[in-house]
Amino acid sequence: MKKHIRDVMMKARSEQNAVAALTVQNAEMIKTVLKVSKELSVPVLLMLGQKPLQHLDMKVMVNIARTYEDLNAMPVYLHLDHSRDLDQIRRAVELGFDSVMFDGSALPWNKNIELTKKVVDMASSKNVAVEAELGKIAGVEDDIVVRESDSNLTTPEEAVDFTAKTNIDWLAVSIGTAHGWYKEKPKLDYSRIKEIRAAVNVPLVMHGGSGLSDDAFRQAIQSGITKVNVDTELRRAFMSGLQEALSTEHAIEDLIYYFKNAEESLAATVRGKLQLFQTSQFKDNN
Ligand SMILES: [Zn+2]
Repeated sequence: MKKHIRDVMMKARSEQNAVAALTVQNAEMIKTVLKVSKELSVPVLLMLGQKPLQHLDMKVMVNIARTYEDLNAMPVYLHLDHSRDLDQIRRAVELGFDSVMFDGSALPWNKNIELTKKVVDMASSKNVAVEAELGKIAGVEDDIVVRESDSNLTTPEEAVDFTAKTNIDWLAVSIGTAHGWYKEKPKLDYSRIKEIRAAVNVPLVMHGGSGLSDDAFRQAIQSGITKVNVDTELRRAFMSGLQEALSTEHAIEDLIYYFKNAEESLAATVRGKLQLFQTSQFKDNN
């Protein structure tokens, strides 16, 4: 029987591994991420962000993912990323997502709690896990822009209060990472991660994983991060594979040739991340 994503996350938490939450924007990305997940027997969260949902209907993306779940005979976990729209979350819950993220980090404290609680109530009717965010993570994520000067780090006290009041399943923390690609080396606050990990009993989520060094990922996971979101780096891998193929002398109408190259480039990046995040399973690679 398919394990609930909550259990997958709690197992990862106790084993000091992290579940990769990988953003996918089209059918080729879904197919590739799931192929690598099956190849390594490592469950992943397929993450749908706001931008691809403006481009392709949610139901289409869900159906593609669920079709691969059948074909691969491997559980597929679907996660809605950074939603601030309760109607969109309701639709995701109805379409059978495994987890949803409500991003109320830009709201005043009480409003964030009030709306997060609403989402938890709505999601619990279908046993869907809820992620919420505390503190503001700098950078650009789809249509959400947070300037570095407006970002602020999560404190353990806030984390305890917020999780107790909202009953969320996972908490996205602001610990020095940023969305998008890093221009300067980020300073991750590992001791802050450890303090929050010790203070709350829900898995912690790190956003803004693109372009971090392997060592930074390893240290963040060892300090207590259980879900790592990767978005920009995957799109870069896919598009650079596509670009490389486009620069060869090949018939332009051979679409499959170009996408195959993009998929291979993405697969290599996904493989690296899954092995890196499963610190206990792939010790030799780390
Ligand atoms: Zn994010």
